[in-house]
Amino acid sequence: MKAQRISTTQPIPIDGSHGEGGGQILRSALTLSLVTGKPVQLTNIRAGRKKPGLMRQHLTAVRAAAQVSEAEMEGDQVGSRTLLFRPGTLQPGQYEFLVGTAGSGTLVLQTVLPALMLADARSEITVEGGTHNPWAPPYDFLARAYLPLLEQMGVKLSAGLARYGFYPAGGGRFSVGIEPPASALQGLQLTERGEIRQRAVTAVVAHLPQSIAKREIDQARKKLGWPADCFHILEAKNSAGPGNIVMIELHCEHVRELFTGFGRQGVRAEHVAKSAVDQVRDYLAADVPVGRHLADQLLLPLGIAAWRYGAKSRFRTLPLSRHSETHMHILRTFLDLPIQVAEEGAAVEVRIG
Ligand code: ATP
Repeated sequence: MKAQRISTTQPIPIDGSHGEGGGQILRSALTLSLVTGKPVQLTNIRAGRKKPGLMRQHLTAVRAAAQVSEAEMEGDQVGSRTLLFRPGTLQPGQYEFLVGTAGSGTLVLQTVLPALMLADARSEITVEGGTHNPWAPPYDFLARAYLPLLEQMGVKLSAGLARYGFYPAGGGRFSVGIEPPASALQGLQLTERGEIRQRAVTAVVAHLPQSIAKREIDQARKKLGWPADCFHILEAKNSAGPGNIVMIELHCEHVRELFTGFGRQGVRAEHVAKSAVDQVRDYLAADVPVGRHLADQLLLPLGIAAWRYGAKSRFRTLPLSRHSETHMHILRTFLDLPIQVAEEGAAVEVRIG
């Protein structure tokens, strides 16, 4: 049996109530603990939420991080507000993680992916749980916006959705293959969006009437005025439960972005479409390449590339969310990394490394 190397150094203390006090600071602390090999002691986990402590989705992320690094833990139970996490050696390989609820599977993947892209061999991660739920990156955002940027950094990735998992039924399933770069990770220079090459609006319905998707498409067409061939309806048969979303994808010269409106009982189809359209309008009006969610999720991989390989990055985005500020705080805590934010009118420029 392989000897397990667990660090016995003093854990880095992280107060989970910092910033928006949600699941993000926990997941990012786990990722950075995996990357640096430094143990972490979290307190006040999700203190800013109505139901504080670890929920199934967070616990799955904790256990995923433990599995890929043969970690030792204390406090890994549902409801726990403290966690001691001591990573061992990072082990690339094939893993399957089950959330067991509609809790986001993409957030579980994002906890281990930035660490596994530094490993010395390929990994294949399969996650079962929510794939398209509000308050988390939908699978399509992962596959079409986030992963292509990690590929630009030098990681080879593949992704496939086997089953949709909408809120509240969950039960979705997807896999991501991760092949670390042969040499170093590259930084990203995302200062311009460049010309818009493709636009697509897709209304997805699963086990719900197509008329919902049709109303959403009609509303989006009216508001955006784009040509008819930009609009699509997709009836998802491979879904555990009912669900509806509207996704607007912009494929630009230097970046791809994806904005989502989530259908919910009691919310009119027209409103779902409008919420996605409003996000696109804000993004286009700001004339920046990186949208709010993408900014927040890029900070971790870019910070890791700067720390490990000295790869400098720069991107322009909308005013930073509290998630982004939380990421910066935790990157500075773990990696002692220079991160500069310069305001430029309605936009900001972030420099890392
Ligand atoms: P909690 O349950 O504590 O609120 P959580 O663990 O469910 O937290 P957050 O801490 O709120 O989640 O983090 C959510 C993450 O999902 C953030 O990185 C955010 O950028 C991302 N996200 C939310 N909505 C979208 C969306 N529509 N598209 C892409 N990413 C999204």
